[in-house]
Amino acid sequence: MKDFDYIIIGGGCAGLSLAYELEIHKKLKNKTLAIIEPRNEYKRDKTWSFWKIIPHNFDDCVKKCWKNFSINVPNKTKFLDCNKYPYQSIDSGLFYKKVNEKLKQNKNIIFFKNIDEINTKNSFIFNSLPELNANNNDLWQHFCGVEIETKNNFFDDEIINLMDFDCEQRKSVHFFYTLPFTKNKALIETTWLSIMNDDSEKDYENQIKKYLENHLNLRDYKINYKEEGAIPLFNPSNKSENNKINIGTAGGMTRLSTGYTFLNIQEHSKFIRENLENINKTKVFTIDKKYQFLDKIFLRVIKKNSEIMPDIFFKMFSSSSNTVIKFLSNKSNILEDFSIILKMPKWTFIKALFRN
Ligand SMILES: Cc1cc2nc3c(=O)[nH]c(=O)nc-3n(C[C@H](O)[C@H](O)[C@H](O)COP(=O)(O)OP(=O)(O)OC[C@H]3O[C@@H](n4cnc5c(N)ncnc54)[C@H](O)[C@@H]3O)c2cc1C
Repeated sequence: MKDFDYIIIGGGCAGLSLAYELEIHKKLKNKTLAIIEPRNEYKRDKTWSFWKIIPHNFDDCVKKCWKNFSINVPNKTKFLDCNKYPYQSIDSGLFYKKVNEKLKQNKNIIFFKNIDEINTKNSFIFNSLPELNANNNDLWQHFCGVEIETKNNFFDDEIINLMDFDCEQRKSVHFFYTLPFTKNKALIETTWLSIMNDDSEKDYENQIKKYLENHLNLRDYKINYKEEGAIPLFNPSNKSENNKINIGTAGGMTRLSTGYTFLNIQEHSKFIRENLENINKTKVFTIDKKYQFLDKIFLRVIKKNSEIMPDIFFKMFSSSSNTVIKFLSNKSNILEDFSIILKMPKWTFIKALFRN
């Protein structure tokens, strides 16, 4: 069996982002890397979106970039701009193609379907398989999105609708999310924040159909693509070991109040590349503790007071859009944190601070 210097378990977003980062910075010139990935073929399966607050390697995989967004609750809409930090959507199909074409050029990088095919004893391992021991009380962000195409122009492709809370909440938090890629193509997603104990929430296609027909008054369309997922809004139980660190979801790269993970994965990849020679002795990369603390309280409020969440999200966006974007992207300073915290209903959050 062959030995490798490095092993990446899982060739998904985090595994491939890391391999790409190491490859383009020539860290694999004299080193060998095994990537363990069971899938038979790579095809588009996710749309990764985020406000571009830091540079990343995948601008050429961006499907569309917007400078305006809206958020609404019944009878109220806020229109905001994000000129400074545009909202980008990455097509995972383009991402997989770009990374795999690059990695193929280096003979030191080999893909395997199963870890049993190689010797792992002398390698440093980057693991992206999360250990999710969810209990009945853990929250998930679960969703389904369809990319639809209309015959005639229908969408304003200059603006995304980040959260439309004007829909049934069913004792959870529920919103629709619309990304108009062109005037006649858009990704429409139904998204729930819940402990996933109500199967009726998973009737996603029907929810989207009703939203399109009754809310947007849109009947004549075809579905070109569908994606579904559930992002854990709790920390996986993976632990780092002497010769192993966790990356991606497994490495705690998900911002638990929002589900945003993609840019954190990119930052983590850069951190690993910069510290590769001493990776065993380097501190574990985490999302800043202050966000972990604030998100814990925020999630408690979601669980206990789901009915007020649409208003809370709406109020959050009455701070300047740059402030909210920085806060949600883990890049805010203390003054910006306070400007967001002061928008929250004080007693609800103080109670959540003391009661689990
Ligand atoms: C549908 C969807 C949409 C999302 N949209 C966004 C978004 O808009 N913005 C954002 O910031 N985040 C988003 N996320 C969250 C997050 O960015 C993604 O989940 C991201 O793919 C996480 O990367 P990862 O490498 O941890 O996991 P994955 O990308 O899932 O990679 C894990 C890999 O491990 C492989 N694997 C499975 N079993 C094994 C095994 N036994 N051995 C080895 N490998 C195995 C899988 O095939 C997969 O390739 C989304 C998540 C989903 C599911």
